Amino acid sequence: MTESQISQVRKVVTAIPGPKSQELHKRRLEAVSHGAGAALPVYIEAAHGGIIVDVDGNQLIDLGSGIGVTTIGHTNPQVVAAVQEQVAKLTHTLFTLTPYSGYVEVCEFLNKHTPGNFKKRSALFNSGAEAVENAVKLARKFTGRGEIAVFDHGYHGRTNLTMAMNFKAMPYNSGFGPFAPGVHHVPMSYPFRDETGLTGEEAAKRAITYMDKRVGAANLAAIVIEPIQGEGGFIVPAPGFLKAISEWAKANGIVMIADEVQAGIARTGKWFASEWEEGFEPDMFTIAKGIAGGMPISAVTGRAEIMDASHPGGIGGTFGGNPVAAAAAIAVLRQIEAGGVLERAQAIETLLKSRLEAMKAKYPVIGDIRGRGAMIAIEFVEPGTKNPNKAAVDAVVKHSHENGVLVLNAGTYYNVIRFLPPLAITDELLNDALNVIEEAVAKL
Ligand SMILES: *Cc1c(COP(=O)(O)O)cnc(C)c1O
Repeated sequence: MTESQISQVRKVVTAIPGPKSQELHKRRLEAVSHGAGAALPVYIEAAHGGIIVDVDGNQLIDLGSGIGVTTIGHTNPQVVAAVQEQVAKLTHTLFTLTPYSGYVEVCEFLNKHTPGNFKKRSALFNSGAEAVENAVKLARKFTGRGEIAVFDHGYHGRTNLTMAMNFKAMPYNSGFGPFAPGVHHVPMSYPFRDETGLTGEEAAKRAITYMDKRVGAANLAAIVIEPIQGEGGFIVPAPGFLKAISEWAKANGIVMIADEVQAGIARTGKWFASEWEEGFEPDMFTIAKGIAGGMPISAVTGRAEIMDASHPGGIGGTFGGNPVAAAAAIAVLRQIEAGGVLERAQAIETLLKSRLEAMKAKYPVIGDIRGRGAMIAIEFVEPGTKNPNKAAVDAVVKHSHENGVLVLNAGTYYNVIRFLPPLAITDELLNDALNVIEEAVAKL
């Protein structure tokens, strides 16, 4: 089956998972480390737009994009063509040995489109965690300081340093320590769960007091924050929070790092989620997931003087900025630049929010609807309280999966459903998926 033959409709033709998936799952359990989980053990063979097709011929609506990776759409024709052309020409040299143009071009795009009116440079890596590691390395080298601050409910990866930066012990960190030192966890602004009326400025003051008293501003190399927290459940901080944090960082010579790995690259209806926050002025950005339509590549973009703080040879890596992945990234970035992609993410927000708000008015199990662009979440509660309701999420996810809609959970309390659809998804598919989800919510 070629990608253009995949109709953009939901089709459930077997039990989910079907017999071939169940067979493959048996092989997987025998062959693959059980440390790698499987949210829905349906084995996928092909995909296009907003539909993924499993080995049994079921067509599932994808509301996850592999966690915000295939933002441009599955098998986007321009990404497919760019990869096919590049893979037949050159697959690897090692950029730090003998360079090639694709790497440079990706960096030019990112320097141009990340927010901040200052001279920038970029460097390319393989994963989000690797980008975060390198941003912290460079901030430490630039400032000559060792400590970093991160926020409650945050997520930054699975390497030793980034595990130290995660909020949740389970499932990311538990038993894998000891972790890298010098990481300080600071209270986040979480409007739904903070005391009623706490402003962004007040929440920032709470965080700043902690950093100032517990760590000492002069010891901090960097503050790392997701402008919208991904794994934490799409927590959008109260207005003014990020501005106050970044002003304090600037006043104290601390590098402000925005982890845009999940929220960046058109996901929220702007190139970067940081742009929604007036007065928030990050010095560096970490970028990965949605940048290359599914090919593995990540980046750090930031102020030239910070990015140049390392001696030559101090940053790099064998596969970083691989030519084929770079070609895919260029194909994605060109389409965003050409127009229409950001608008599509904003239109998805309008559709999702209007339907979900209507559901919230009807079903008291829905406590909060939040997010921006095609990054929207529902937080479930026990009706009449704010007590997290994980059981409701489990039931909605199960019903959705059985009916061919792939949804993801999230949140510190596992009580959030997050929507990260490919932007290529049609309104018909979105509405169809929302009907299935509403059925599940109505049954609770
Ligand atoms: C996914 C994610 C990471 C880690 O990216 P990997 O590519 O899985 O290493 C880091 N930060 C944020 C905000 C993420 O969502």
